[in-house]
Amino acid sequence: MSVDATQPYDDGNIFARLLRGEIPSRRVYEDEHVVVFHDIAPWAPTHLLAVPRGRYVSWDDFSANASDTEIAAFTRAIGKVARDAGLVETGYRLIANAGRDSHQEVPHLHVHIMAGRPLGPMLV
Ligand code: 5GP
Repeated sequence: MSVDATQPYDDGNIFARLLRGEIPSRRVYEDEHVVVFHDIAPWAPTHLLAVPRGRYVSWDDFSANASDTEIAAFTRAIGKVARDAGLVETGYRLIANAGRDSHQEVPHLHVHIMAGRPLGPMLV
């Protein structure tokens, strides 16, 4: 079911729990502001999720309310992970779902990083 991204942040959501270490994750990168881990149900040979540590529901929430430091850290972390995972040569796709019509399921901002096979055109 898609989330209502206009609702306040829910500290019980699955990625909040994952960030607090209450549920396990296969982390490939983390710093003060960002964690990147493997998606539990990958759609591609490489399917990572990048999440800010801060309490942001969606891209619009993050871009309006995060500090410049957090925004820079998030942007740079995704690029670094793409480079370090060797995705630059073959290419990769970034997706951030936001709200009902996007089918966002987890109400904590996350960017999907997908790669490892030809992904084809964007499907809606
Ligand atoms: P959304 O539809 O919200 O953009 O994507 C949510 C993603 O989170 C899905 O691809 C789903 O497989 C992933 N996911 C849901 N629960 C967990 C979990 O507990 N651990 C991990 N690593 N990924 C999860």
